[in-house]
Parts: sequence; structure tokens; C-alpha cells
Amino acid sequence: MGKKELSWRKREQFIEDNGIIFLDNVSKVYSKGAPAINGITLGIGKGEFVFIVGDSGSGKSTLIRLLLRELTATSGNVYVMGSDLANLKHRQVPKFRRNLGVVFQDFRLLNDRNVYENVAFAQRIIEVPAGEIRRNVPTILATVGLAGKYKAKTRQLSGGEQQRVALARALVNKPSILLADEPTGNLDPKNSWEIMMLLEEINQSGTTVVVVTHNREIVNAMHKRVVTMKRGIIISDEEGGEYIDED
Ligand code: ADP
Ligand code: MG
Repeated sequence: MGKKELSWRKREQFIEDNGIIFLDNVSKVYSKGAPAINGITLGIGKGEFVFIVGDSGSGKSTLIRLLLRELTATSGNVYVMGSDLANLKHRQVPKFRRNLGVVFQDFRLLNDRNVYENVAFAQRIIEVPAGEIRRNVPTILATVGLAGKYKAKTRQLSGGEQQRVALARALVNKPSILLADEPTGNLDPKNSWEIMMLLEEINQSGTTVVVVTHNREIVNAMHKRVVTMKRGIIISDEEGGEYIDED
């Protein structure tokens, strides 16, 4: 059996098994140094909630960027929602990303716009009709607890509020997958909990959620699947896992 055929069979099996993310022996080498990701195989099913943990530099953000198709793998295959990302043409990437919501540690909002505009922007990019935008934005803002803050400029908001705006923006187009790279890294414990509870709610409504975090207390309390990375490999992957102490 040719190598290509083997990959196809794996892909078919993966979709049959309700998989939505599948990395098949994936490595990523930046121009210099050791591989950031070194032969990772990882499958995530539709509707799962997964924490990715590990020391700084272990490859977590690289993994997220591979899933977003911001990076391409040096070797191996990355499948997301049935597509082999290596085969996606540049012009297909925007359409692919419509089904992915993403949130970062530093919020990445448009700070000269108000809350409403930040969220509406995501809908305008995909050409949602104006009438629908006017319905969708308030609905999602209420979901994240920001009803009544539409007109605030984002820079006037607290960190917790800014992250809620980022979440609303990530969710307004109803993505199948939400990727969050250290979403609570700049938040105090109370806001961190509130954001994680929102992520759990989003997951319960059917969205697959992948969260990179250093928040040991929350990981240990939530009893989710925990994938631990170290120097570009997965050293543990457990349902109802705990944050592994490396020190
Ligand atoms: P983490 O998110 O777990 O902290 P990263 O995925 O950011 O880890 O980084 C993994 C490794 O890849 C680190 O050694 C880091 O220095 C390196 N790295 C990350 N981004 C780049 C880049 N753009 N160019 C070169 N090396 C990078
Ligand atoms: Mg990182």
C-alpha cells in the first residue's frame, strides 16, 4: 500500500470515529534549532474539551498555529474538520478559518473601536447580512456577560471584559472548534475562572474546545482531558487528568 493511500485510510477512519482534529506523526522545525514539535500523533473528537499544558517552549503555541494553518507541518499530516491542511490552497484558507474561533492571551482587539464593532467586524468579513449582524452580535454579547457594554471602547474595559469581547468575536460566526492559547494568562483568578466557565458552557453547546493553559488550579479542578507536552512531544494524555508538576 502506498503512503498516500495509508494516510487516506487513516483519515477515513478518523472521520468515521467522529474525529475533528487529527495530527499524524507531525513535526515542525523552525529555521533554526531543535524541532518545536517532534513527531506528535494526537486525535481530538467532535465535542471534546481538551487542555494542553506544558512548560514554556514545549510547543503548545506551535501546535495551535498548525491547527489554524498559520504554519504548515515540516512532516506528517494535520487534519482539521476533514481537510488535510497541507492540501489547502491559499485561497481556501479564509473559508477554512471560518469554522475556527481563536482566542489569545493578549486579546488582540481593535482598540479604537467599541465592543459592538469588534464583534460585528468578524461577521462583516464573512459577509453576513447587516440585519443578521444586528441580531447576532447582541445575542453573543449577552452569552459572554457583556450585555449593556456595546458602546464601550475596548481599551476602557478590564482585562476580563476584554477577553469576553475576544470570546464573543471568536464565537459569533458559530465555529465548530474554539482554540484558546493561554486565554487567562493576563487575568486575575476570578476572571480566569469566569472565562474557563464560559469555555465550558461553549463546549456544552457542542463546540470542540482546545485550551492551552498554565493554570494548574483550574486544570485540576475541571477534570477534563489533559495533554501534557514537553520539548515538542506529548508526555501524557489523560481523561480527567491533572496538571503534571515538572519541577
Ligand atoms: P510554548 O507555546 O509551549 O511556550 P512554542 O510553540 O511557542 O512553545 O515554542 C516551541 C519552540 O519553538 C521554542 O523553542 C520556541 O523558541 C521555538 N519557536 C517558536 N516560535 C518560533 C519562531 N517563529 N521561530 C523560531 N523558533 C520558534
Ligand atoms: Mg505559547
